[in-house]
Amino acid sequence: MVQEAEWLSAYLERKPPGAFDYLSTTLAERLDPRQIMEDAKSVIVLLLNYYAPEIAHEETDFIIARYAYGKDYHIVMKKKLEKLIIFMKAEAGEIRANAFVDSGPVMEKAWAQRGGAGWIGKNTLLITKPAGSFFFIGIILTNLEMEPDEPERDHCGACNKCMEACPTGALEMPYTLNPGRCISFWTIENKSVIPEELKDKFHNRIYGCDICQDVCPYNKFAIPNNEPAFTVSDDLKSIRKEDWLTLTEEEFARIFRDSPVMRTGYDKMMRTVRFLMDA
Ligand code: SF4
Ligand code: SF4
Repeated sequence: MVQEAEWLSAYLERKPPGAFDYLSTTLAERLDPRQIMEDAKSVIVLLLNYYAPEIAHEETDFIIARYAYGKDYHIVMKKKLEKLIIFMKAEAGEIRANAFVDSGPVMEKAWAQRGGAGWIGKNTLLITKPAGSFFFIGIILTNLEMEPDEPERDHCGACNKCMEACPTGALEMPYTLNPGRCISFWTIENKSVIPEELKDKFHNRIYGCDICQDVCPYNKFAIPNNEPAFTVSDDLKSIRKEDWLTLTEEEFARIFRDSPVMRTGYDKMMRTVRFLMDA
């Protein structure tokens, strides 16, 4: 995983102090799954489509990233992987298998590329040739020995659309994200004050950012998901910018019940709303 290790260290060099420290402390496991499962023989990669047409209008609404339109993918996808593990055990007998959905020290995107599911694009996300990048990645680590698939090659070519479109310049070089400039970081992970210099660059995004995916030519082939758990609620569809100003914690909890947005929480979301309202 030489290339992936280089990208990860470039990311760690750029991250804001104190953020994503768990990435450095679990580096050995990330680079070698046998540090997690001693007798691991295979990595199974699964993708779950979460694409849905945009529900907000940039001029009049605050925008949240598509991945947060429905129920929390960690839970939705993990249940699917656990069902698959039950099936694998029924078929293959005494095997060990563990499921990961953005929940363990696993290089999901790197394994997805190695397993032929897609390639890591210049926007640092996994892109699939037939259907773009709006996918969650699930991993099953197992001691069952399986025939490996061929890795996928890079199909970005001369395209630089994601880098050109990023409003904050977070994609500093191809395949290199500076999290300290990324709207997703500042609206989801950040625990401190958002830098004033980024104020007019958020384009109404209050939770995550899909801009570098929306412009990717491969996402022209994205098709709406058919996962019932990712259905957009009427409450979420109807909330307008002015509603956010008076949104109570109780209303927030009702609208975003079971959503990944709850991991960020009311206080942090309202901090971003106030930051953008002051713009
Ligand atoms: S998510 Fe938004 S801010 Fe982050 S790199 Fe992509 S376009 Fe830039
Ligand atoms: S926008 Fe272009 S350069 Fe960026 S990930 Fe998509 S294909 Fe690659």
